[in-house]
Amino acid sequence: MSPRCALTQPADLVITGADVWTADAARSWTDAVAVRGDRIVAMGAARVAELVGPRTRVEHRPGAMVVPGFQDAHVHTPFAGRTLLQVWLHDLAGRQAYLDHIARYAADHPDEAWVVGGGWAMECFPGGTPRREDLDAVVPDRPVFLMNRDVHGAWVNSRALEIAGITRDTPDPADGRIERDPVTGEPTGALHEGAAYSFQDRFLPTPSRQEWERATLEGQKHLHALGITGWQDAWVTPATLEAYRSLCASGQLTARVVGALWWDRHRELDQIDEFLTQRESGAASSPAGAGFHPTSVKIMTDGVLENYTGALLEPYCDGCGGHTDNRGLSYVERDLLAAAVTELDRLGFQVHMHAIGDRAVRNALDAVQAARTANGPSDHRHHIAHLQVVQREDVARFRELGVVANAQPYWAQMEPQMEELTLPFLGRDRAELQYPFGDLLRSGATIAMGSDWSVTTANPLEEIEVAVTRVDPENRANAPFLPEQALPLQVALAAFTAGSAYVNHDEDGGSLAVGKRADLAVIDRNLFARSAGPIGDARVDLTVASGRVVYER
Ligand SMILES: [Zn+2]
Repeated sequence: MSPRCALTQPADLVITGADVWTADAARSWTDAVAVRGDRIVAMGAARVAELVGPRTRVEHRPGAMVVPGFQDAHVHTPFAGRTLLQVWLHDLAGRQAYLDHIARYAADHPDEAWVVGGGWAMECFPGGTPRREDLDAVVPDRPVFLMNRDVHGAWVNSRALEIAGITRDTPDPADGRIERDPVTGEPTGALHEGAAYSFQDRFLPTPSRQEWERATLEGQKHLHALGITGWQDAWVTPATLEAYRSLCASGQLTARVVGALWWDRHRELDQIDEFLTQRESGAASSPAGAGFHPTSVKIMTDGVLENYTGALLEPYCDGCGGHTDNRGLSYVERDLLAAAVTELDRLGFQVHMHAIGDRAVRNALDAVQAARTANGPSDHRHHIAHLQVVQREDVARFRELGVVANAQPYWAQMEPQMEELTLPFLGRDRAELQYPFGDLLRSGATIAMGSDWSVTTANPLEEIEVAVTRVDPENRANAPFLPEQALPLQVALAAFTAGSAYVNHDEDGGSLAVGKRADLAVIDRNLFARSAGPIGDARVDLTVASGRVVYER
């Protein structure tokens, strides 16, 4: 077809009357978008009007706002989707609500040999650890295994402990802990870190590929409903890689996904050969423009502060004004981390590091520095996620080393877990170093954003609200948490669109421009309007991924 013909061919979809925020470099606005196939073919009311034909779907949305499709730079879609299909405790209000839901689920699913799920919050139990007796009372006959909201521990019943042969005589694994009764020494039903993961790997039924596919689609549906059209999966296993690949082949994967292959911390550099194979065999792009790109490697360098596994430079406080001798855990020891990042960088992988404590963040930056020294500059866009405690002298290193700050902004608020389980053990000085997104912005760092769903809500609008206000959207009267670290709305929106697209090497997405992939979300109000109300109260009305409407409210 001639170029002229291509220009005048009608659009498949046009959105008019809305305020269109493009996330381009100038952060410019327009008032209409036209989509043909998987591409944006025109912007601006006059140009768009020319492309309306008899079969064009016209969405006239006065008062609405159009943004590029959100991209979540750190999310666990298949795992979260799987939990959505199992015992989903995330939205429930504490111990009794959990137990009622678990009892109901067990009664509704009499054929499931295991009762599995997750999402309970540590703050709902004394000392952060639930007990098996509670579960025994509602499910006495079948094993129960429930991951906590943070995925750093599990709650199990007596039947599950029995099946795993865990008794008072079982030693703790090197990378975790079996919670024990201080008087009797018996396991109480809480398994921390490695103790929970090895339990899961060894004893829980292995999901089939069909189950992983179903879980991934369930997760994708949830994310599309929130305006999300792409993400980085922060924990791809061989099983979920297969699920992504086959969903891509069947055209059911409508998002653009970068997969971060999971670094096994019990092994060393030898596993890199397997990543090369997975990168080769796992890549799959669908004709619709979506696709799966397993080009990143996720290294979990430490744990979390709530159970003292986050790696700190100075020891944890004891909660009573003194210090312990515990500095937390480095899951990948400093020199090995540097060697791993250097080798992965040399082979063209992006490295996606989990770092919570200030020692973990520093080791991660040092590792990228080692890679730069050995290999010279690269465009792999290595990133560090979470960034809970960052020493001031490390902030500027993100820009210097070209490391993207991958923020989970929802965590930067004062909530019970922070108040009861973090601050007393961190101490006042370090408490002020938490989630320094404002400082990172001022230092010139590139910021991407993600939810870590199902750890926290996947809703980017709620996430962005916290980035902007540093206040819990469920308790908006609360005082802001370190308000000098808040981000302007424009910056937070750009981080959740263009910033995450940058980290995903998605030059075709993350902003709206003619010729780019048509990934966009229609929000029910202009978030910048004076009358918009709280950001997290806004709703996504329509989501378009690669030109296809994938969600409509
Ligand atoms: Zn995560």
